[in-house]
Amino acid sequence: MESLITIAIAVAVSLFFLRGYLKSLKQRDELAKQAAEKGKVFSEGPRSQHPHIDTNNCIGCATCTTVCPEGDVLAMLAGKAVIVNGYKCIGHSLCAEACPVGAITMVMATPSMGADMPYMTPEFETSIENLFLIGELGGLALIKNAVNQGRECVDHLVRRRASRGGTAQTGVYDVLIVGAGPAGISASLRAIENKLNYITLEQDEIGGTVAKYPRQKLVMTSPVEFPMYGKFKKTELSKENLLAFWDMVLNRADFNCVTGAKVEQINKGEDAIFTVKTATNEYRTRAVILALGKTGTPRKLGVQGEEQGKVMYRLIEADHYVNKKILIVGGGDSAVEAAMGLANQSGNKVTLCYRSAQFSRIKERNSKRIADCMRSGKVEVLFNTNPVEFKVDSVLLDVQGEKRELPNDFVWIFAGGVPPYDFLKKIGIRFGMRDQTQEASKEAKLALQEQGVPS
Ligand SMILES: Cc1cc2nc3c(=O)[nH]c(=O)nc-3n(C[C@H](O)[C@H](O)[C@H](O)COP(=O)(O)OP(=O)(O)OC[C@H]3O[C@@H](n4cnc5c(N)ncnc54)[C@H](O)[C@@H]3O)c2cc1C
Ligand code: SF4
Repeated sequence: MESLITIAIAVAVSLFFLRGYLKSLKQRDELAKQAAEKGKVFSEGPRSQHPHIDTNNCIGCATCTTVCPEGDVLAMLAGKAVIVNGYKCIGHSLCAEACPVGAITMVMATPSMGADMPYMTPEFETSIENLFLIGELGGLALIKNAVNQGRECVDHLVRRRASRGGTAQTGVYDVLIVGAGPAGISASLRAIENKLNYITLEQDEIGGTVAKYPRQKLVMTSPVEFPMYGKFKKTELSKENLLAFWDMVLNRADFNCVTGAKVEQINKGEDAIFTVKTATNEYRTRAVILALGKTGTPRKLGVQGEEQGKVMYRLIEADHYVNKKILIVGGGDSAVEAAMGLANQSGNKVTLCYRSAQFSRIKERNSKRIADCMRSGKVEVLFNTNPVEFKVDSVLLDVQGEKRELPNDFVWIFAGGVPPYDFLKKIGIRFGMRDQTQEASKEAKLALQEQGVPS
């Protein structure tokens, strides 16, 4: 009898916990469905590299749903991980790194279609032998990817040199690197490690796009093998601290970089040596690595009055602007962050105009913060609105078909950058439809290896 009572109690306790567990599963599914619905409203799906989940392999541990810095890109539905807000994914790959069973690979948004991109081999070589292309210009965003590609590309060059031989020639570099963003810096440091005779040319300042982030921007990154340093383990740090770290390593390595040197032409001679031209100099080199990034030239709108000095495309120091009437044009994270940063400065009146009916691709955190600013009147947001003319003291807008003129001191336009594809075509690089799935997966696998996880 006593044992019957014990069994009954054990069954009752088990049923109690089972019920709780099933209830929590149901709640989790419900939340995932809600997030999926929200994702649908915002977009048609992932826009760039994003995780692909092999549901046969997924064991439902939910690890991937907790590691993504962008919030609810992934969620658990019926015991499996699914993408619910793909539009938020910017390709950190942390989910792929964290999955204990390797059920996630990183793929591009439309792998079967590919994209009209410069032709490249898996070793980053373009259609011109010994002319390489790395970093964001090659198709994969993120600092970590740029650093990995810079390192790998030089390793490939070194292997090729070892296998093919060839003697050094006076006045000819082993490799010339164009661009000193994270990809160019990493390639340059790897060249130093391998004792290559190299030079780096940068049209602007060292740091690339990172140097142009707004002041104190929080940079999210992943552990990465940094040449001349070793494992860089930080995952979150300010822009200033990241630049200071690079500066420290570059100074120690005696970085051979010419700044203010925009490369205008590259020709390959019959002797297989490249001549690289800037406005004032010519350099001869056996190999060229282009690490030009994608954001160098801001996209212009073609609006009347856009050529005035008060119209800008980049905001670094928001606190330099007080008591001003400001228009922000754009609806991405950069536009929203700039609007909020400027609205926090004393006496500024900030209006943001966006051509769409709602913000569609901004981070959850920005989405909440801008909604608060709109409610409190800190930022006026005009949807379905386009600028018509930028005048000296005002701006003329088309607000849902009606003209409206606002007093104005400054305009910032955040419409993305124009990739330097014309330059690439000018120097003879072939373009074509490219399937980037393999590259994205390769980056995820590399990240796994760096973590010491067999892939
Ligand atoms: C607002 C914003 C926030 C971001 N936040 C993050 C983040 O938190 N984490 C993250 O991982 N990534 C982030 N990214 C993406 C990241 O900054 C880029 O993926 C990365 O900088 C790409 O590195 P890159 O070296 O390929 O190119 P870039 O950093 O763009 O560097 C290219 C360099 O080449 C130079 N150059 C171009 N043309 C020439 C020429 N003809 N001659 C000489 N020099 C030339 C340019 O002046 C530039 O310095 C962000 C991007 C933006 C725009
Ligand atoms: S981490 Fe891997 S196994 Fe765990 S839920 Fe995500 S995809 Fe599935």
